[in-house]
Amino acid sequence: MAEQTSLQYLSVIVIGAGFGGLAASIELALRGAKVRVFESYADMTKQGDVIQMPANGTRLMKRWGDVLDKIVKISASPDTMTIMNKDGKVLLNQQLHTEFDGFPIVYGHRGRIQQTLHDYAVSLGVEIKWGATVGEIYEDEASAGIVAGGIKYEADFVVAADGVHSKSRSYVVGTVDRPKKSGFAVYRSWFPLQLLQDDPVTQEIAASDKPLFKIWISEDTHGILTTNPALQSATCFVTHKAKDWNLRGDAQEMLACVKGWDSQLRHIIEKIPPDCLIDYKLLWRDPVPKWVSDKGRVCLVGDAAHPHLATSGTGAAQAIEDAATIGALLGKTGKANIQLALKSYEKLRYERTSLTQRMGWETRHVWHQTNWDAVAANPDMLKFPQPAWLLGSDATKYADENFEAVKTSVESGKPFVSTNIPPGHVHEDWTIDTMLGHEGKLADKDFYKTRD
Ligand SMILES: Cc1cc2nc3c(=O)[nH]c(=O)nc-3n(C[C@H](O)[C@H](O)[C@H](O)COP(=O)(O)OP(=O)(O)OC[C@H]3O[C@@H](n4cnc5c(N)ncnc54)[C@H](O)[C@@H]3O)c2cc1C
Repeated sequence: MAEQTSLQYLSVIVIGAGFGGLAASIELALRGAKVRVFESYADMTKQGDVIQMPANGTRLMKRWGDVLDKIVKISASPDTMTIMNKDGKVLLNQQLHTEFDGFPIVYGHRGRIQQTLHDYAVSLGVEIKWGATVGEIYEDEASAGIVAGGIKYEADFVVAADGVHSKSRSYVVGTVDRPKKSGFAVYRSWFPLQLLQDDPVTQEIAASDKPLFKIWISEDTHGILTTNPALQSATCFVTHKAKDWNLRGDAQEMLACVKGWDSQLRHIIEKIPPDCLIDYKLLWRDPVPKWVSDKGRVCLVGDAAHPHLATSGTGAAQAIEDAATIGALLGKTGKANIQLALKSYEKLRYERTSLTQRMGWETRHVWHQTNWDAVAANPDMLKFPQPAWLLGSDATKYADENFEAVKTSVESGKPFVSTNIPPGHVHEDWTIDTMLGHEGKLADKDFYKTRD
């Protein structure tokens, strides 16, 4: 990478060792920066379920040593998504891309992918402090820092990648900003495929040497099964309406959400080991265009800036795009103009992520408030979106190619025209309240902005 040594005098503090924090650490360390990560968890969490890493994410990972090769080995690339109604009647067999522009689309073990990123970051010299909760952020004209465990740490700038519960977001935005309930939670489970092999209703799943991706949809609820033959594992999710959540999931309550549904889904759920199930609340935040603090030395990355619902399938990939954008822009400005790099990052990313956030809600809405007459005429309307503007995007190249234009926009206040969104799309701000107003009823097709 040509810019690798250009950041060798730059020091960075990263809050959070999730996908966003690790990706930012890697992008900056690759360019020579000194990176310290502060993470609340005592050690690397081994969350076991599945995460989809689309081609726009793997394209960026390809530049990270052997990270992508390792991830591909432990992942599946299903070529079909079978969408059914709650009785198990197939509505659509959607062909899925298994790659885009030569970059794989993989469904891998979340914890192991994160571990791979972690190991690579450490190999680049990134220092990770576990059990270190950041309580305070500060900055002045020349530096920025944090307080963790009563000790002050200082750097040239701070990347706040502290997830959907981000405390940093209020500091950056300048007003108290808390996550909002989405009204939904998701039962998430992961277990050996072998558990499905002795039951005649589920044994075809265990026997399949092809990765499977099945979805059952009905009002306000959907179930998902994925399998990973390479790891001989399966995941089963049920997204459901919920007022309260238990972190530990209860299979009986999960079953109650799909009472009377396809017996295959119910038989799968009956086999989930109790210690492999959680009930995870889905939180949201309104898209906010301000991701950089007033003094310009603290920026939000990943879910702290733009939390994605599970049905977007791109939250982690967007966090990686954020990281690649920051790395590329700092490669241009160097340490001398961190503020310009971070303000440019915000402008390059906001409209795209506002749309990908919305995409998660729209897909869920199409599956939960299904217009059955329209589906009978056109089953394709249930498709999981795989648009070229999303999968074919190269965040590093985009930052490089648009640097002069975005710099002019930051310096002059003139608008910047995003081209990492669908061709012809005109950005519209939206809020969670707007979306919640459409829960429980059909939406006019013009309301959807991200459906093909
Ligand atoms: C059920 C589900 C399925 C999903 N599926 C997909 C998918 O298939 N594909 C996809 O791309 N995305 C998916 N997503 C979204 C994706 O998981 C997130 O967008 C992504 O993980 C966000 O990464 P992050 O680093 O921003 O946040 P996180 O992963 O939440 O990491 C934030 C980290 O910051 C730490 N932290 C927080 N506060 C502090 C503090 N004060 N001090 C120190 N550390 C702190 C936390 O402990 C945490 O480790 C899914 C999400 C859900 C809920």
